[in-house]
Amino acid sequence: MAYQYDDQNIFAKILRGEIPNGTVLETDHCLAFRDIAPQAPDHVLIIPKGAYVNFDHFANNASDAEILDWVHTIGKVCTLLGVCPDEANGYRLIANSGKHGVQDVPHLHAHILAGRMLGRMLP
Ligand code: C5P
Repeated sequence: MAYQYDDQNIFAKILRGEIPNGTVLETDHCLAFRDIAPQAPDHVLIIPKGAYVNFDHFANNASDAEILDWVHTIGKVCTLLGVCPDEANGYRLIANSGKHGVQDVPHLHAHILAGRMLGRMLP
């Protein structure tokens, strides 16, 4: 499958340092930063530094190191925010992909939403 990555997307610009962001954590392969329009008291996006359009692009093409780093970074952000269900009230983890997933920015990102009771997504 041929994925077309648009290097002018807003997260590519953030990764190049052309647009400021509220960094929470940076690793070798990932950047985690606060969403500019938070939908919950804690709303953080975790993106790989590689040019991946969406989750399946990443999962099918990224190196093991990139995939492990993204997963570990998501876990570390949950810990940093203090939202892990063992010690707090939990969170939601989402990766919108494509048109039906209502993905606005075509660079893979995981959303972590926490800090309030969220609505049910599935019946
Ligand atoms: O999953 P989706 O692509 O719809 O989400 C994109 C997210 O990127 C939105 O929550 C939006 O607020 C966020 N965003 C951001 N900083 C920007 C542009 C968009 O945090 N400069």
